[in-house]
Amino acid sequence: LVDSMDRNDTKLPHLFSVWPRVASRLHRAKHILLFLDFDGTLVGFKPRPEDVMLPAPARIVLARLARHSRLKVFLISGRRRADLRRRARVPGVGYIGLHGWERNGRRSLSVESRKSLRAVRSILAGALEKLPGVWIEDKKPVFVVHYRRALAADARKAVAITLRRVDSRRNDLYSVRGNRVVDVLPLEIEGKGQAVLDLVSDQPRGTLVIYAGDDTTDETAFAALAGRGITILVGPRRKTQARFRLRNPQELISFLQKLQQGLASGIVTAGRAP
Ligand SMILES: [Mg+2]
Repeated sequence: LVDSMDRNDTKLPHLFSVWPRVASRLHRAKHILLFLDFDGTLVGFKPRPEDVMLPAPARIVLARLARHSRLKVFLISGRRRADLRRRARVPGVGYIGLHGWERNGRRSLSVESRKSLRAVRSILAGALEKLPGVWIEDKKPVFVVHYRRALAADARKAVAITLRRVDSRRNDLYSVRGNRVVDVLPLEIEGKGQAVLDLVSDQPRGTLVIYAGDDTTDETAFAALAGRGITILVGPRRKTQARFRLRNPQELISFLQKLQQGLASGIVTAGRAP
């Protein structure tokens, strides 16, 4: 399963190549908080993001994990929370949408942010219209420029135009490059890293945090958990703040199954008996 390159790589080891070490950390943890990104992490990419659904094996193992008393599971995504929930349909897990913005409780954006988002979106709608395969997804309030179906030259143009327009409103907006997308966000949406820190701060001491993600937007979470969590980059090797790696969503699901079996059999128990 693990090739020699992975075994020799001490900088970003394959999670399964260091499993005994990881299992012992899981064994010692009293509580575990598990954060999972959705697209590219739990599910593969489809040309149309609206075609993506969580496969049954992932749904089954997540539902089992969510029932475990010492473990909390959160799905965290750039998608809207309602959309994420509909595509995952796992009972008992927490859903966090719009890069951490949509959690429990309502928050609203400043008037300036809303204006800037509207203005840039409408300018881009005109400017990107001529580029085949480039389209804007309006997630209200944020929006995403998609170029998965565009030719390389058109994709480059779309990214350059988007970044320039966002930069012209940098007092209100910023952009994050993802997997063949550029997310355009107001500054109030601080990203996944801050969301994770907020949720972790509510947890009892001795909580072990696991975070798995594939994308640039997950790097803020990897960084926020540096030195304390089990952070997992899903996908091809690249520069990352994550500590471990898995190759694809299938391997992530295997990890979840290992974790679930470990918890169920007591091999990975959650702390000492009282
Ligand atoms: Mg992702």
